[in-house]
Amino acid sequence: MLLQLEKFLKQLLSLPTATPDPAVFILSGILPVEAQIDKRALGLFNNICNQDESSTEKQLARKSLDSNSWFIEIKKILTKYNMDEINNYLDTPMKKEKWIPLINRTIQKHWSDSITRIVPYYKGLQHLNYMEFYQEKLHPLLKIKCQSARDVGRITPKLKMLTGTYILQSHRIKMYENETDPVCLICHHWDETIEHFILECEGLSDIRNPITDEINAILKGSTNVDFHQQTSKVKMQILLDISMLRENLKLDTKLIAKIEYCRIRLLFLLHTTRYSFLSKGWKKDKKNVKV
Ligand SMILES: [Zn+2]
Repeated sequence: MLLQLEKFLKQLLSLPTATPDPAVFILSGILPVEAQIDKRALGLFNNICNQDESSTEKQLARKSLDSNSWFIEIKKILTKYNMDEINNYLDTPMKKEKWIPLINRTIQKHWSDSITRIVPYYKGLQHLNYMEFYQEKLHPLLKIKCQSARDVGRITPKLKMLTGTYILQSHRIKMYENETDPVCLICHHWDETIEHFILECEGLSDIRNPITDEINAILKGSTNVDFHQQTSKVKMQILLDISMLRENLKLDTKLIAKIEYCRIRLLFLLHTTRYSFLSKGWKKDKKNVKV
């Protein structure tokens, strides 16, 4: 069931199945199924705690703590979230109005901590902003207003680039035995890494430069930040997930939306230009094959 939710979320976001699971939870703002089940179970447990001592369920709760019962599972869940002993809740039940927010907060924190803790271990996720995952909200990148189906389609390549699942030559060499060359097929000079593709490849500079100039003008006008003077790391952050720099650069929502519009366009144009370039190359190769 756990796997199915992750698979479903990946399909919903049009991401490949190889996308790291933490990325899917962070983007969707949805916790794993295990967390949802724990919330329900603890909700039901609190209802039982609030019943009269003479109720069958409550008596069962007190008696069956040594046997293999549902209450043993509750005991395990309480331990997982560092909560009190089961008997404490049975003896002094909490009001539902207090219990529900406490459970939501505790479970959210536990899962946010454990999911975000492993993000740094995924190289492909280094630019993904996970700070807002703690609020169980949709990732800021997916909150952008889309005017048309075309805008929605433009988000997919960007999400792939952000989650390290956009396939470039440097990835192909790791995935396919027959691929031996990580060199960029557009400029034929450097390895085609994500930084090379987005920031450096000279074969794409006609597409890239006017839009990065536009981003530079927006940033300079409002924050005095010169995009062109930034390190590759910061440039990549601006182009892949600027919400991470919201505090540092003191960016407001309006400014983020303006830059978002430019960078979605940039990444999509880089994607389509690369694709059409490679398709032409492949067609040419096919013509050259002598039968
Ligand atoms: Zn290149």
